[in-house]
Amino acid sequence: MFCRASASLALWGWRMAGGAPALQDFLINTALMKVEIINTGTELLIGDVINTNAAWLGQRLVELGLRVERSTCVPDGMAIEDALREASQRVDVVIVTGGLGPTSDDVSREAVSGVFELPMHLDAGALQALTEFFAKRGKGVSAPNQRQAMVPEGAEVMPNPHGTAPGLYLRANLGAKKGLNCAVFLLPGPPRELKPMMNEQVEPRLRALLPKGGDHICRYFKFTGIGESDMALALQEGLEAISGLEIGYCLGKGDVDVRLSGTAADIERSAVLCREKLGEYLVSDDRRLIEDVVIAQLQDKKEWVATAESCTGGFIANRLTNVSGASKAFAHGFITYANEAKTQHLGVPAELIAQYGAVSEEVAAAMAEGCLRVSGADHAIAVTGIAGPTGGTVEKPTGTVFIALASKGESVAVRQRWFNGERERFKILTSQTALDFLRRRLCGYALPND
Ligand code: ATP
Repeated sequence: MFCRASASLALWGWRMAGGAPALQDFLINTALMKVEIINTGTELLIGDVINTNAAWLGQRLVELGLRVERSTCVPDGMAIEDALREASQRVDVVIVTGGLGPTSDDVSREAVSGVFELPMHLDAGALQALTEFFAKRGKGVSAPNQRQAMVPEGAEVMPNPHGTAPGLYLRANLGAKKGLNCAVFLLPGPPRELKPMMNEQVEPRLRALLPKGGDHICRYFKFTGIGESDMALALQEGLEAISGLEIGYCLGKGDVDVRLSGTAADIERSAVLCREKLGEYLVSDDRRLIEDVVIAQLQDKKEWVATAESCTGGFIANRLTNVSGASKAFAHGFITYANEAKTQHLGVPAELIAQYGAVSEEVAAAMAEGCLRVSGADHAIAVTGIAGPTGGTVEKPTGTVFIALASKGESVAVRQRWFNGERERFKILTSQTALDFLRRRLCGYALPND
């Protein structure tokens, strides 16, 4: 979902007047720098390879304060030429990925040379880098690989220490002869080559191009424990009153991101509003996940959490240990899937399980208390539920889960939830809710009721 509080200020004055641009690095006279991404590769179109470059680049560009106007995927071969020609008439920056390899269908260099009418030459520096790359592997540079050192006149070579294909940067003024005012970056397709090139070579160049005094930024406010529509009800009116602010909602797995773009002052006003209206649901304003946030909170307080998991099979512990530095806040994770394991490792009385069933408020509470006692942690999370598709009853249908949180000096709290669907979704939502209970406790908020 996307909405806008006001129109952007795209001023294409010189283009409309048809005047030739002066020779300068860049000719941006827009309040907001617009960018298009073109990904090349037939394998992307037919689904053999997932187009992760588009997603990754999109996120990086938005973080830098650019507006991603369009993302296009084209097959190998000269389709890139049309895509590039069209994009370079629309936006300030085009980023092309792929098509820099040695084979005859890798034609991104040729396309840019054609669109901008820039003859190609063999670049001595690029050839030298290729020679060194292959020499380390005891080989010479083959004729097809030599093509990778062909560079359109005026383009800057961006070295690629992770592969053979160098990147290229064409300043906006190189398109002047064709009436274009658009910078172009050609990046290698493999993500392990593209990402360092983007971070180390493209990003500084983009930062230098951003309009002076432009302070357009984008920030993500991540909420959990509240539905998208309730959130929109609470925030929409206040946010829409901030003129010039762009608002987007993105439903995640157990959380919702509100994406806000605008000036630093707009974003600050929005941040105040988000905290005022929905502070207790706010996980982060910097894209951190809930597990990152709780590990940081625990570290700050010098406290420890332990987990006792049945139906999630260690998924909560997995999420916690995905965070760097988790070892300073998380030491014990029990997977007690069988009833006997709950008794053996957590001291849950077998009679309690027999009386109430393994999926019950009583057993969840006993698991959390046992986990707290055995681990010596400050907080213990316990979950027991029916992930399905089998095992549900009328009383406890598939998707039923009990989530318990025990903390030193507090009585154990248990909540029942119902997360229907695939097993993976069940695990994600259960773990998210359990981590949210801990976040709330660490923040001093009450746990939500059933
Ligand atoms: P190479 O020298 O490896 O040929 P290249 O710049 O020509 O580099 P491509 O041939 O287009 O890159 O892609 C090489 C591989 O990189 C693809 O087979 C694919 O595995 C991966 N790749 C390319 N584009 C993407 C993308 N958009 N998202 C994810 N992976 C990609």
